[in-house]
Amino acid sequence: MVKKVLKFGGTSVGSIERIHHVAQIIKKEHDEGNQIIAVVSAMAGKTNELIDLSKKIEENFDKRELDVLLSSGEQVTCALLAGALIKLNLNARSWLNWQIPILTEGDHSNARIINMSIDKINNFLQENGVVIIPGFQGISKDGLVTTIGRGGSDATAVAVAKIFDTDCCEIYTDVDGVYSTDPNKIPVAKKIDKISYDEMLELSSLGAKVMQSSAVQTAMMYNIPLEVKSTFTNREGTKIFERENIDYSKSVTGVAYSKDDAKITLVGVEDKPGVAANIFEPLSKAQINVDMVIQNISSDEKTTDITFTIKRDDLTKTKEILKQNKRIKYKNITYNNKVSKISIVGAGMVSTPGVTFRMFKGLAEKKINILAISTSEIKLSVIIDEKNTVEAIKQLHTIFDLD
Ligand code: ADP
Ligand code: ASP
Ligand code: MG
Repeated sequence: MVKKVLKFGGTSVGSIERIHHVAQIIKKEHDEGNQIIAVVSAMAGKTNELIDLSKKIEENFDKRELDVLLSSGEQVTCALLAGALIKLNLNARSWLNWQIPILTEGDHSNARIINMSIDKINNFLQENGVVIIPGFQGISKDGLVTTIGRGGSDATAVAVAKIFDTDCCEIYTDVDGVYSTDPNKIPVAKKIDKISYDEMLELSSLGAKVMQSSAVQTAMMYNIPLEVKSTFTNREGTKIFERENIDYSKSVTGVAYSKDDAKITLVGVEDKPGVAANIFEPLSKAQINVDMVIQNISSDEKTTDITFTIKRDDLTKTKEILKQNKRIKYKNITYNNKVSKISIVGAGMVSTPGVTFRMFKGLAEKKINILAISTSEIKLSVIIDEKNTVEAIKQLHTIFDLD
């Protein structure tokens, strides 16, 4: 007998018809003798709809109550799916965040799952029961409802796999696996059969929302193998596991992109020791994450230009902090929030020279200007004008043989 976590994303439970379809998948797995814990997202679009409702009351809606509101989406799908399974004569039951309970730590809307009680649920599984759990939420030690960040049902699934020590964790979604890039954006994208945790972590942190990055991080930390597969086809999915299990014939595994960055340049900054620390210290205190930094050498050796990137949502706050910063002197601030970040990721990069050059040359051939660059062992990211996003992804896809 195999104990499985099956996670169903928003599109997979997006209508009553689809919930019936998911119930059939679970029934088949259960009929084969497996113990099933299903983790469900809210119906597609529901979480955004709830956020919009809160904004109609107040733009800065109370964080505690926002979590109460947002967690309701998953409760609805839990009950509907359990009902659909009961209709199929299965002994199914939903267990809400406080009933389990799913204990979390950390701020509202950004909490982390730290534990769950397993005995009652394990007993129910032993009695042939099917368990349905809401993704994306928990309760704090003070008993307050919390949510764990957008896309967080993936993290719930991985936490359940770890805490209940299941044999596998399958992520059912609306595409049949992880692709070399978003298949809904670039139709020639190719499905990847196997990918390592670290590559998947880079891809998801850099914009591939098919897996939530903190879920991949937990899976990597505890060595929990994942499989991403389609709710709507029977094709093989993508397996995510340790790098040792994969042969690398290509230098680049995938291309990710995101449009949530902004670029700021401080022009004519007085160039003296400590200036960079003086710029970035107040930003870090305000929890603003700086991603790429470029400092130009000045021709007069007195001033320099410093460019850096941040999340687009933090732009207004960053500009305010810079303006109020009396410890730095500069001539002007310019900014650009119509940029996108394009990244190539691949564990094969470590052993292949010339990847950087090929990327830059490929973009130059398409007359795409690079505004900032950052690298790590297995990724290379560039900031470009947002309007060139699709062309850049296509070009990199071709250059690195991913079509
Ligand atoms: P779910 O609601 O099932 O969690 P998501 O919408 O969060 O699904 O993630 C699936 C989507 O991720 C796909 O529809 C696809 O558009 C997008 N996506 C982005 N990058 C990739 C990629 N490299 N491979 C597969 N899908 C990707
Ligand atoms: N419903 C939540 C969201 O839309 C969590 C999830 O779907 O994973 O972000
Ligand atoms: Mg998702």
